[in-house]
Amino acid sequence: MTTNHELFARARQLLPGGVNSPVRAFTSVGGEPFFTARADGAYLWDVEGNRYIDYVGSWGPMIAGHNHPAVREAVERAVRDGLSFGTPCAAEVTMAETIVSLVPSVEMVRMVNSGTEATMSAIRLARGATGRSKIVKFEGCYHGHGDSFLVKAGSGALTFGVPTSPGVPKAAADLTLTLPYNDIDAARALFAEHGDDIAALIIEPVAGNMNCIPPKDGYLQALRELCTKHGALLIFDEVMTGFRVALGGAQAHYGITPDLTCFGKIIGGGMPVGAYGGRRDLMAQVAPAGPIYQAGTLSGNPVAMAAGLAMLELIQAPGFHDDLAARTVRLTDGILGAAREAGIPFSVNRVGAMFGLFFTSETVESYAQATAADVARFNRFFHGMLERGVYLAPSAFEAGFLSSAHGDAEIDATVTAARAVFATL
Ligand code: PMP
Repeated sequence: MTTNHELFARARQLLPGGVNSPVRAFTSVGGEPFFTARADGAYLWDVEGNRYIDYVGSWGPMIAGHNHPAVREAVERAVRDGLSFGTPCAAEVTMAETIVSLVPSVEMVRMVNSGTEATMSAIRLARGATGRSKIVKFEGCYHGHGDSFLVKAGSGALTFGVPTSPGVPKAAADLTLTLPYNDIDAARALFAEHGDDIAALIIEPVAGNMNCIPPKDGYLQALRELCTKHGALLIFDEVMTGFRVALGGAQAHYGITPDLTCFGKIIGGGMPVGAYGGRRDLMAQVAPAGPIYQAGTLSGNPVAMAAGLAMLELIQAPGFHDDLAARTVRLTDGILGAAREAGIPFSVNRVGAMFGLFFTSETVESYAQATAADVARFNRFFHGMLERGVYLAPSAFEAGFLSSAHGDAEIDATVTAARAVFATL
């Protein structure tokens, strides 16, 4: 049998850090990653046959559980007709119609291959449409690895202590202005100074890359008003929150209308997919309808569209999101209760089927609070849970995700494991 350790040793010879995406490497929690052989429902199995209850869900897409038969069968059917055409296909039209019907602010859409492509393309569009150069992002928010976004970024960039990456030209970084999340006064001050130069403000409407931090009451609305007042576009990066915190995403959950929205993860059903869309007058400026260039050899891929459409079908079942939110409450209340029994300072955040666990007694509303929580303790908690067959995101700065395959049995087993681990901390 190949072991995880052997595979990681081979991987490290040829892949930077042994992985194709940084957070997978367990660098911040320590130890070595496991190599997944198979996934089904709420579970992952590694190459050694160990089983884990999975709260990462491929970092978001697997909201209906791994290897859902409806998605798998849709992919199998699509594959029989060919893998990629390089011409338009019908599934792209159905996908666009589906997205537009589920997210009213999106009047037109362009499919791409990842969340990174979606955000990069959206800010190009914002710059092209407004004729302005600067963008505003939030400290601790992650929008993929485009140059403009690797400035005070979250996720792996934050986990590895390089939130502003070498290799991003100063000229590019200078055009990215950053703000503290959930601080409306700071946003007002920045717009007062730079408002005329700002093409767009991009935000994760629920921050999920510095652990999970929901917006304060009225915060997104205040940002909406600020952007409108200064002629800047409001871009919601719903790569993580889209189709997860509600069927219509965070914009439906909070009742805010952005100008542009970025998607990824769930709309691909586990295949490499992203999308950006929004106001018709803006999207009509994208090539070939307009002059703002953006393209993709594999964009709108028929197999990826089939997976995504099957996933979007599943999540439209009545009560799907309410049920997931209720399970998320059950899970996080259970873990919080176990921490309290053990006398461990702990707090949770949750919105829909997205949650954050923090080793601090404070309710976390800011990047400063998230980074001040006890990361060393989280790392010990992470490994204790892993030993007991529960896989949490391998970083204190990532959100957790539930799927509809996480039933009472999995949730109760997770809480039992947490109780045991808290007793060792
Ligand atoms: N935006 C957000 C909010 C994300 O969470 C991510 C990835 N976790 C991205 C963009 C980038 O997406 P991708 O990794 O598909 O490029």
